[in-house]
Amino acid sequence: MELYRFLQQQGFGGRKACRELVDYGLVELDGVVASDWRMAVDPAAIRTLRVDGEPWPVLALPCYLMLHKPAGYETSHQPQHHLSVFRLLPWQFANLGIAAVGRLDVDTTGLLLFSTDGQFVHSLSSPRKLIPKCYQVTARHAVTPQLLQQLRDGVLLHDESAPLAATQVEQLDTHRFNMSITQGKYHQVKRMVAAAGNRVEQLHRIAMGELALGDLVEGQWRLLDAAELALLG
Ligand code: URA
Repeated sequence: MELYRFLQQQGFGGRKACRELVDYGLVELDGVVASDWRMAVDPAAIRTLRVDGEPWPVLALPCYLMLHKPAGYETSHQPQHHLSVFRLLPWQFANLGIAAVGRLDVDTTGLLLFSTDGQFVHSLSSPRKLIPKCYQVTARHAVTPQLLQQLRDGVLLHDESAPLAATQVEQLDTHRFNMSITQGKYHQVKRMVAAAGNRVEQLHRIAMGELALGDLVEGQWRLLDAAELALLG
């Protein structure tokens, strides 16, 4: 494949922009500045790529990644009142049509997945895909056994025809507990906790299916490998 086409595929822009990057001497392959945008490259054989001095992880497309979402970012390309979470990803991903898997509220932190694979995003966001999403809840009032039991038994939310139940609930300390839900209704955890008589002060998503956020630093993202993808079923 010609170098400029490879750069296009990696999200560096259109044909003209990618040819110019090479013409201006801004593309370095395995430590050597590329001089001809027509040169043939084998993406699988490139060990390091730097563009305008910045290292770039050669992406195998479609690609899948996780972000540790901080509070204060909207999960939207057209945010209303805050910055977009897409600002936390390199701009190249926007050229690749990356989308978020579902949404987290602006004040919710934790695991958010993204992909350039539209079918993956669609299927994982679908209500029919019953993948458990585990949240760590910090509650305003002390956590009681009754609260946890109600969440397990199910609570009826306004606008819902049937009660929604947590699939797993575990108390951590006086004001914190983990709970898993399989659906992804609007403000679901906050509304369930409110319906059970408490209030969510902080919400942090720690896992989706068997895929955990782990020790990824807040505001950072990383690519997922095939084994991690398999954890999402
Ligand atoms: N439930 C909520 O209430 N908010 C989120 O951001 C995610 C789940």
